[in-house]
Amino acid sequence: MPAASPWKDAVEAERAGLVALRQHFHAHPELSFEEHETSKRVARELEPLKALGLQVRTGWAKGTGIVAVLRGTAPGADSKEARTVALRGDMDALPVTEETGLPYASTVPGKMHACGHDGHTTMLLGAAKVLCKHRDRLKGSVVFCFQPAEESGGGGRFMVDEGALDDPKVGAAFALHGFPSHRLGTVAVKPGESQAASDSFQVTVHGMGGHGAAPHNTIDPIVVAARIIEALQSVVSREVNPIESAVVTIGKINGGFARNVIPPKVEMEGTIRSLKEAIRRRVHEAVKRTVTGIAASAGARAEIHVNDGYPVVYNDPVASAFVLDTARHAFGADRAVELPVPSMGGEDFAFFLQKVPGAMIRLGVATGENYPGLHHPKYNFPDEALPVGVEVFCRIAERYLSEGFPGAQPKR
Ligand SMILES: [Zn+2]
Ligand SMILES: [Zn+2]
Repeated sequence: MPAASPWKDAVEAERAGLVALRQHFHAHPELSFEEHETSKRVARELEPLKALGLQVRTGWAKGTGIVAVLRGTAPGADSKEARTVALRGDMDALPVTEETGLPYASTVPGKMHACGHDGHTTMLLGAAKVLCKHRDRLKGSVVFCFQPAEESGGGGRFMVDEGALDDPKVGAAFALHGFPSHRLGTVAVKPGESQAASDSFQVTVHGMGGHGAAPHNTIDPIVVAARIIEALQSVVSREVNPIESAVVTIGKINGGFARNVIPPKVEMEGTIRSLKEAIRRRVHEAVKRTVTGIAASAGARAEIHVNDGYPVVYNDPVASAFVLDTARHAFGADRAVELPVPSMGGEDFAFFLQKVPGAMIRLGVATGENYPGLHHPKYNFPDEALPVGVEVFCRIAERYLSEGFPGAQPKR
């Protein structure tokens, strides 16, 4: 049986306000690094909490990020050994045209909270509101990180580089992401590699254009591009240990103007996903070698840029077990799920987890069968998930600050 807890009532008291906030954010989506109004609203919601001891620092990560620090007042909270935990929420929306038909659907054409970051921002605000009112239960400090640009641009990296985890020095970090692949109220964690490193590449094949009826007088970049695409399919199948995972996808190709003209160049873009750093470097190298080698074999020249995106999300096994145990205690064993396999999706919370141990937690949001997936024009973060997420944040913060990680310690 889930244990009774003062958190449930405390969270319940905030519910109506949080639902209204989430719907407000949903109606006013802003893209990566443009979360100006969202950030202002978050700051406005945090303002009254200053009287309860919250320190609010705005202007992070190109301007829209916010870091708020709450020092607890439980006995021991001001000792040298007191711990600090970071909780993180992302605020940005996507360039998607909403099709939910909801009364609070996006008011901005072509932009939508299709990944549920409206819910994530609201849950983190909810945790700040509840924890500020229950400061006496916290035997250390909580750092609330409202970050921009998870979808594009890596706001998480800016937050970490600018010192969000440094003052006070954070010992563990946690984030929640709603996942429609799990039913509402489930708390799921994949220990170890949880989400893939997500890198991008751009290729330009430079040939020599000319008449479509005289290919012998040209170097046809379209044919070269076709060979490159074909050859890239063998990078994962022939160069990566079959026990490991990687993906190479060309998602965009652009070349040519007319059916009877051989163009001078073709441009392509793609993504590379991997779960281990060694595999990641190997695939980058193989993609570069394949692209330039095939172009050279045809007398063409290929330019290729492979760009590091988000690193692998590595959920510390000790922190993962801690989250699952806390969820089991709070909601019952059937709602705490240890996931057996990672996802090849990316997530810039990886930058936080490169610096401190912690876990990216998947919060179940499916209220029924065939719930629309993330980034789908009909996706809507369900308000019913808000109290669950807030309670998860509060319990993790309270417990980590009181006990740290029980048993074995993270190896970093
Ligand atoms: Zn997303
Ligand atoms: Zn997301």
